[in-house]
Amino acid sequence: MDDAKTALITGAGSGIGAAIAERFLSAGYRVALFDINGKAAEETAARIAGPVRRIAISGDVSSEEHVQLAVLRTVRELGPLDVLVNNAGIEIYGTVVELTAEQWDRQMAVNLRGSYLFSKYAIPEMRRGGAIIHISSAHAHVSWPRCPAYDATKAGLIGLTRAMALDHGRQGIRVNAICPGYISTPLLEKAIACGEVDREAMLKFHPLGRIGTPLDIAEATLFLASDAASFISGTVLNVDGCLTAQGL
Ligand code: NAD
Repeated sequence: MDDAKTALITGAGSGIGAAIAERFLSAGYRVALFDINGKAAEETAARIAGPVRRIAISGDVSSEEHVQLAVLRTVRELGPLDVLVNNAGIEIYGTVVELTAEQWDRQMAVNLRGSYLFSKYAIPEMRRGGAIIHISSAHAHVSWPRCPAYDATKAGLIGLTRAMALDHGRQGIRVNAICPGYISTPLLEKAIACGEVDREAMLKFHPLGRIGTPLDIAEATLFLASDAASFISGTVLNVDGCLTAQGL
């Protein structure tokens, strides 16, 4: 096996996760693309030409069995893990009164439990140290109407980042979070289509005058995974076009 590094990326079938997978592949990483939509993960894997090894794995981040099998398969087929990107996430709108307990639990299960499970099984396989990046959200810092469960999960990821960075630093494992602003992806398009987000207002929220692209997040993720970030751990990087720096 060559000395290329191995990255496992969740939610790699769409939007931000797909861009991260493509960017890591083009940077020479071997990549495991995990998604509940296995076909979408396969399509992302096929989009980048070249000899770099990649595997697409179908599974649910909230299933302990799926996660354990995915990590085992990644290590067996691609080698020891170097990078884990916990990106898979869902957003269900509604106040706490409107949300059903099932909708609350599902957001906790995908956004928080999934990140815990992948970290639990990935860390023992990071035998030469590693980097974990949790994709949180600007919603960890500021709230918009009707997102209580989503906001709680994204704020929870910040706590998880600090706690894991502290516990695993001496193993050479760095843990950081990225908080994206609004990023042009299918998740955002869905929110616009169902009237939860207004396209014009959203543009005005961002002092840089545009919303983000999945590549904006992929570049930040690649940096945090790289040796250039070797003294950065336990931090939160806002990649949000100045969204959360302002008083709205
Ligand atoms: P997206 O809906 O385009 O992609 C999410 C991917 O995750 C999909 O491929 C989906 O199949 C997969 N997924 C969903 N549930 C899963 C599960 N249980 N197991 C495995 N895979 C699952 O969304 P996106 O906009 O690319 O969002 C990616 C991450 O970025 C999410 O965590 C989201 O909360 C966060 N984020 C997005 C924005 C934005 O504006 N788009 C802003 C801030 C944070």
